[in-house]
Formats: sequence, structure tokens, C-alpha cells
Amino acid sequence: MNIDKRTEVSIASEQISINALKVIRRLIEHGYEAYLVGGGVRDLILGRTPKDFDVTTNAHPEEVHELFRNSRMVGKRFKIVHVRFGRDIIEVATFRAARDEAEENIDIEDKEQLNQTESGMLLADNVYGAFEEDVFRRDFTINALYYDPEEDKVVDFVGGGEDLKKQIIRLIGEPESRYREDPVRMLRAIRFKAMLGFEIDEASTEPMHELGYLLQDISPARLFEELLKLFMSGYAAKVFDDLLRYELFGWLFPDSRRSMDNSPAEKLIRAALDNTDKRIAVDLPVTPAFIYASLFWYPFIEEKKRLEKEGVSYVEASNEAAANIIAKQQLFTSIPRRFSGQIRDIWHLQFRLSNRHGKKVNALVRHKRFRAAYDFLLLRELAGEKLNNLGEWWTNYQDANETERQKMKPKPRRARRRPRREKQI
Ligand code: ATP
Ligand code: MG
Repeated sequence: MNIDKRTEVSIASEQISINALKVIRRLIEHGYEAYLVGGGVRDLILGRTPKDFDVTTNAHPEEVHELFRNSRMVGKRFKIVHVRFGRDIIEVATFRAARDEAEENIDIEDKEQLNQTESGMLLADNVYGAFEEDVFRRDFTINALYYDPEEDKVVDFVGGGEDLKKQIIRLIGEPESRYREDPVRMLRAIRFKAMLGFEIDEASTEPMHELGYLLQDISPARLFEELLKLFMSGYAAKVFDDLLRYELFGWLFPDSRRSMDNSPAEKLIRAALDNTDKRIAVDLPVTPAFIYASLFWYPFIEEKKRLEKEGVSYVEASNEAAANIIAKQQLFTSIPRRFSGQIRDIWHLQFRLSNRHGKKVNALVRHKRFRAAYDFLLLRELAGEKLNNLGEWWTNYQDANETERQKMKPKPRRARRRPRREKQI
């Protein structure tokens, strides 16, 4: 490998965060090497606005922390330093060692840090190495471009510049073992594909179909964070299609996957994701609770019916079903409490929305979760649920004034009397 492979890929360096440059400069002044790397470099070359800037250096985390008062060390499996400038955080990671050599040359204590599970998953990756080795622990070639601001040059060891041009997402190294080391890379591939509109190299897609089960070993908290990025960045519908295509969806949401076989779940989920994408495109507020409500709506209904069959009362069944379904999902991906409350509200309001009678109708419109519940109702109809035009009724009801509202309420049904027959004489 040509170690000094500096390409002529150009970068709009004036777009680089001043703070990232400050961090790099200070590290260099203190005798360390430091580069900009990752999504920041990738996005700058593509002419996109980077979301954040990552710095990589040969300084160890403790040394970085010592140099910057405004910093703290984070991560266990993968130790890095966050340098904070107001709301801007620059992530500084230390060069990691190439794995094979590292395993031979390190002492016992470090070896423990390298341990892998039986499936090949890396439990920790805190063995430091040289600049040229760092590239092998990165996931995709397009994420492994290093920018040296002092010389205004991009260093490209693995053909990332070429793949950016070809619009290809390609794992560095042997795909199956790279996915085994960290199965979240499968989700990252899908995310970058959707975000950049690229294709995933065939060799990097093939193993996905077989390796989805490895996602079970990832902590629910980490998966939740990754799902936020997948679903809340404006391209959730595309991500959904690929999660299904590569057979990963069922490993993340087993109940939802099952419910797709005998309900309009797929349609409802896609409608909710489309809706979220459209809202993000025009800067409207979005909540993951809405997506979660759609993911588990049919499993929730099924569970509720099961409980009712067992004799649990209508209201109790609804509460218990919501609790059961959410608790079960938490085994796979966590759902923080602030969201689970919203999910339950959206679900429970569905039953209240089906009641157009009485005084409570007005109060319902003022409920803090009315809007989300109403939007959800429209999606259910869009998915094909036959609800007797309930959505349209609520649309009109919100626009109507008080007199019109009174007229809209269905008349209480009277007991039907049989028409009296005239007595025939
Ligand atoms: P984003 O635009 O989402 O920030 P990114 O590529 O910068 O994308 P980060 O999660 O910020 O992604 O990670 C920064 C860099 O660290 C990546 O570009 C990649 O080189 C490396 N990296 C991150 N996560 C992994 C992983 N799970 N396996 C291997 N390398 C990773
Ligand atoms: Mg990044």
C-alpha cells in the first residue's frame, strides 16, 4: 500500500469549522499528528454541509484531554474525547492499531481490551496505533479520507476518493468479518446510502441477508440512537425499504415484522415515515413517538384483542396491551420514557376519536396530543382501515364554529318504533 497516497481531491477548506481547525492546530503545536476525518471530509468533498467534524490524532485520549480544558473523555468500548466550544463539539479519536499486528504485539492487559465475542463482535477497540493503521478500523472507504489542513491535502489509503466519485459505499476489508466486528455497520451502510443517494457495493450487501441476527447482540440503547439517525433525518422511507430488502427489519422490530403478514402494517409504517420525511423537509417539528406508534399499532391491537378474549375489560386491555408491547420492544431497541408516554397517548386517543357524540368532543380537540392522534387517524385510513370517514369528520369539526359543531354531532339514536298499523276495520 502506498502510505503517502495524497490525492488531489479538493476540499472547500473555508467551510471547515474553525473549532476543528483550532483543535488540529493545537495538537500539532504540541508535537502530535492530527487530521480531519470521517463524515466531515466526505461531505465537504461532496459539497454538502457537514453535520459534525471528527479529528483523529496519535495523541492518546488522556493527552488530548490534558491539552483542552473544555474537553471530556467519553465512551468505553471506544474511548474518545469531546472538545466543546459552546454548542459545537469536536470529537477527537486516537489512531487505532491494525488488528492482526496488534494482537501479536501487545501485552496481556491490552489483549483483554481486544476481546471479541464468539460471533466476532469487538467488545472494545482501544489499542492505539500509527496513522497508516487507523484506516483499517474505519467502516467505509468514503469515511476513511483524511484531510491535513496544514498542507491542504487529502490522504486516501483505500480509494475513498474514487468511490465518492462512483457513488459507492464499500466496506474496507472483508465484508462479513467487518459486519461481525460491529453489526451496526449494516445499519450505517443503509443510512449513508439513503442520505447520499449512493449504492452499496454488492460484496458489502450480500452478507447482510445472513447476518441480521447479530443485531440482537447490540445494546438496545445503542440501537435506539442509531434508529433516531435512520428515521429522523429526512429519508426514513428509503431506510425502511432497505431494512426490509436486506432482511434487517425483523431483527429490530420482530412484532412489527410479524404483523405485516396479516394487517396493513407495512402501509401504515410507510405512511408515517413518509409523513415524517415531508415534515422534516419543511422544518416542521417531528417526534419519534409518532413513528413508534405506527410501528407497533397492529401488534398493540392484536394484543388488546387477545386480552379482551381472556376477559380483561376494554380499558384495562388497552393499558395492558400498550405496556406489554412496549416492554417487549425494549428488549430489542430502547424506548425512553418520554416517548413511550406519547405512544400510549396516540393509541388511547384513537378510541376516543371514534366517539363523535357528547360534550367530551370539544375537550378532545384541546388535548395536548390531539394533533398527533388526529394525524395518526388519517394515516390509518390511508393504510386502508375502514373508519367510516372519521378522519374527514374530524378535519371538518376542527374548522367548524360552535353552531356547526352542534349540527355535526350525530343525533343520539332513538329506539326504533314499529310503525303502527292502522287498524283495518
Ligand atoms: P455523520 O454524517 O452521520 O456524522 P460520519 O461518517 O461522520 O457520519 P460518525 O458516526 O460521526 O459518522 O463517525 C465518524 C467516523 O468514524 C466515520 O466516518 C468512520 O470513519 C468512523 N466510524 C464511526 N462508526 C464506526 C463504526 N461503527 N465502525 C467503523 N468505523 C466507524
Ligand atoms: Mg461525524
